[in-house]
Amino acid sequence: MPKRTHNVRLIRREHSYSIQEVAALYGLHKNAIGRWLKSGLKAIDRSRPILIHGSDLIHFLTERQHQRKAHCKAEEFYCLRCRAPRLPMGNMADLIPRNEKLFVLHAFCALCGGAMRKVSGQKKLLLYQQIFDLATPAGTHLTETPETSLNRALKEECKNAPKHPRL
Ligand SMILES: [Zn+2]
Repeated sequence: MPKRTHNVRLIRREHSYSIQEVAALYGLHKNAIGRWLKSGLKAIDRSRPILIHGSDLIHFLTERQHQRKAHCKAEEFYCLRCRAPRLPMGNMADLIPRNEKLFVLHAFCALCGGAMRKVSGQKKLLLYQQIFDLATPAGTHLTETPETSLNRALKEECKNAPKHPRL
């Protein structure tokens, strides 16, 4: 994927955009905006046509561009609260498969306790297994430690994550 920077000043904060309008704003195919929606861009609601609020678009692009600039190392996550790469609390991460190629790691920032996540490909799975104490959503590798509330909180976080309609 090309590492482009999108100028958020083009976006009107109080305006609602259709997918086509966002695509036109940056000279992108509408499928690219569909990928943004799948990777965390919020839609106003689930009705069609999908509309995106300007402030959500600004937030999404700003955070995405911060993440790129941060250049997290393999053992780090980008913490949105600290706005910096951080190590996960207890070196623990939850692994949630997304499809046969991608998975999402969820963890908590060791410094501020904020929820952190990163999406990665299967080829990095072995590496992450060596770095982190990984747990699956099914709980198969979860140990009964005082940290179970942390795991519960992580699951809550995942359950509450907005689901975006497929485009
Ligand atoms: Zn943090």
